[in-house]
Amino acid sequence: MKQHKSKILKTEVLKSKIYEALAKYQDPYLAVDLITANCIKELIINNSQVILNLQYNFLLGKYSLELSKKLRVVLEPIVTSLAKEVGIKLSLEINCYSKILTHAYKENVEKIPNIKNIIAIGSGKGGVGKSTVSVNLALALKAQGARVGILDADLYGPSLPHMLGCPDQATIVNNKLQPHHVYGLYCISIGHLLEPESPVVWRGPMVSGGLLQLLHDTIWPELDYLIVDLPPGTGDIQLTLAQKIPVSGAVIVTTPQVVALLDAQKALVMLQKLQIPILGVVENMSFFVCANCNHKHDIFGTDGGGNMANKYDVRLLGNIPLDLSIRRQADLGMTTVLAFPDRNISKIYHNMATSMAAQLSKLSVDLKLDRSQIVIES
Ligand code: ADP
Repeated sequence: MKQHKSKILKTEVLKSKIYEALAKYQDPYLAVDLITANCIKELIINNSQVILNLQYNFLLGKYSLELSKKLRVVLEPIVTSLAKEVGIKLSLEINCYSKILTHAYKENVEKIPNIKNIIAIGSGKGGVGKSTVSVNLALALKAQGARVGILDADLYGPSLPHMLGCPDQATIVNNKLQPHHVYGLYCISIGHLLEPESPVVWRGPMVSGGLLQLLHDTIWPELDYLIVDLPPGTGDIQLTLAQKIPVSGAVIVTTPQVVALLDAQKALVMLQKLQIPILGVVENMSFFVCANCNHKHDIFGTDGGGNMANKYDVRLLGNIPLDLSIRRQADLGMTTVLAFPDRNISKIYHNMATSMAAQLSKLSVDLKLDRSQIVIES
């Protein structure tokens, strides 16, 4: 009787020690500990095993294996030492699950059927690499197993048809647009409705209507994420996005250069004022490594994106170098993540995509809309 009681007591101690350890474990993508992030789904302890089930609300991809290993290093000594004290053997099983949820968006905004989360990618200035980042983030999410679409909201200067190598006109079915399905992404752009060389002339109110039509009149399949590549600046499109589109979060792309940062901050503040959660800042063209001398040049300055992220208390999702292959591959319609999946630059895009999805996963969830399936990752 006495021995039985002491074993129950140890189980409680073990549980609290495991929770204590998980409360100290800072996840690199979530940027908080696992208790704060609400990742603990289940902790089962019996006389022969400890089973820890964790649920992450974004796809873990290759990180899943690394995560299990890291957690084992932290938890195994705790489990083994307490098991030893009561003279039993306990095995430790760690399961990491991924579940992409639908996150909340502004009330009174019409939901887009089939789309779980809309993420906008914005910038202050043009030419900072926003479209290139959008395409690579979308492809990285796709490669990690998510169902992803991309909408080119740059109605004045659509570049996605070229960057994704899908310049052909969109097919119209029952008065709706069939998005291009390219490299596993579903893509639509105003460029898919026009001749490549024809300039787009929009009067003010038409811009808002054009964006809403592209979004609502496209036949979207079930998507976990729709990436919206915004035009630069703080104009009509951004306002329409904030007021009429169920967007869950936004990312701001900038270079470290002062003039780019000044405008990027305006874009960030505008979206924040319109109550769109900022998932993070991407610093593009952060540095250039010379192929001849290997010297690192800070062509556009240093730390601008990081300082901006600190100032507004948002995450710096990553720093992308200025690299010839990024420009070349975008021009060829076969961007970096696809062309060189194993290169360091692709890893940077992958890390940024995971961090972006992780930041989104911490936002409140609209459970009513959640239709996702649990995917077992390890
Ligand atoms: P934006 O959408 O901000 O106008 P783009 O994505 O169209 O910018 O990029 C502008 C140009 O810079 C393109 O030619 C693109 O290939 C190139 N580019 C973007 N990011 C990088 C980078 N990190 N290194 C080299 N070239 C880049």
